[in-house]
Amino acid sequence: LQSKLPNIGATIFTTMSQLAQEHGAINLSQGFPDFGCAPELLDLANQAMQNGYNQYAPSSGLPLLRQQISKKTEQLYGYTANADTQITVTSGATEALFAAISAVVRPGDEVIILEPSYDSYVPAIDLNGGVPVFVPLTFPEFAIDWQKVKDKLSSKTRLLILNSPHNPSGAILTPSDLQFLKELTQEHPFLIISDEVYEHMVFDGKKHLSLLTEPELAERAFVISSFGKTFHTTGWKVGYCIAPPALTTEFRKIHQYLTFCTATPFQQAIGQYLENPEPYLTLPQFYQQKRDLFAELLKPSKFELIPCAGTYFQLARYNQISDLPEVEFAQWLTKEAGVAVIPVSVFYHDQTDHRLVRFCFAKKEETLQAAAERLCKL
Ligand code: PMP
Ligand code: GLN
Repeated sequence: LQSKLPNIGATIFTTMSQLAQEHGAINLSQGFPDFGCAPELLDLANQAMQNGYNQYAPSSGLPLLRQQISKKTEQLYGYTANADTQITVTSGATEALFAAISAVVRPGDEVIILEPSYDSYVPAIDLNGGVPVFVPLTFPEFAIDWQKVKDKLSSKTRLLILNSPHNPSGAILTPSDLQFLKELTQEHPFLIISDEVYEHMVFDGKKHLSLLTEPELAERAFVISSFGKTFHTTGWKVGYCIAPPALTTEFRKIHQYLTFCTATPFQQAIGQYLENPEPYLTLPQFYQQKRDLFAELLKPSKFELIPCAGTYFQLARYNQISDLPEVEFAQWLTKEAGVAVIPVSVFYHDQTDHRLVRFCFAKKEETLQAAAERLCKL
């Protein structure tokens, strides 16, 4: 059989989590919390099942959940998304990304990818016959060099994929980024996917700049988020996509044949839970504390941390510890030091290697302490 994705194996998240398990390492690789979600949210999910929310939901998502997403979006970003024509609930952000890419990318279309980039974008482009066009973020700031983006635009450019807060770097968009982007869209008619799954993890009093805050950008964008990140429920796979009605129509044609709908009781539970904004409004403080604790714990170590403005990931240079390339270092660290991490080079098409690894700090204090103890011995 000739593979349609010849260069793809198991994802780095599967690989590193497996390696962590085999070697009994503390797993700071794959991004997920090692603590539970709110008991109240669990109760709501149990109740939803007891109350009969066990059959297919409408393909676009339960109306309650779409209305709550609309309300939250309006309050946070001042954008009114019509719950019936603009919001679709999906099986996590992963499905939304695949559906959005499939909805608009035709064979030969070019898609601008800013690297390092999350691993699911390029395979989705490949499967649709699109051509990824890579633009590196600056190093070590991981900022967007808009001149470089401009230089790569062509008559074939169909789509630009943005991700802020950014996995793996933790960098966030600035007001001037949105300004540059607006200028570019005035010259070129490309569409945008804005992956905002870490929208509620922006630190140091800064605000998340959703593309929805700019009407001119919102009118050409698929804005994607996920409750897996926001409510510590990555296994529930409830995400969503907000897009203008014409884009949503095309998006839903794909979504209905990918999954049709995502799990009904979890949609109902999250729809009810969203009535109270406090859990997501207090999330920045919650994760900022973990970021700061982890940084403090690593102070005596030889790791050099790259500033993290958002997400639950911390990048660190390790050149005072080893001169191994990132993939080998990550394997060595897992096997020999007992802490699993993600090499950043896997997020570059050409394996650009800055001698960096990514730690996930969405972990209990004791997990971070135990990991730091091991890391400080190196
Ligand atoms: N985009 C980014 C940038 C992510 O980090 C992740 C998951 N960690 C996803 C999308 C996928 O989200 P989900 O788990 O909701 O499918
Ligand atoms: N997005 C998560 C991360 O960056 C992993 C998601 C997955 O395993 N598919 O670690």
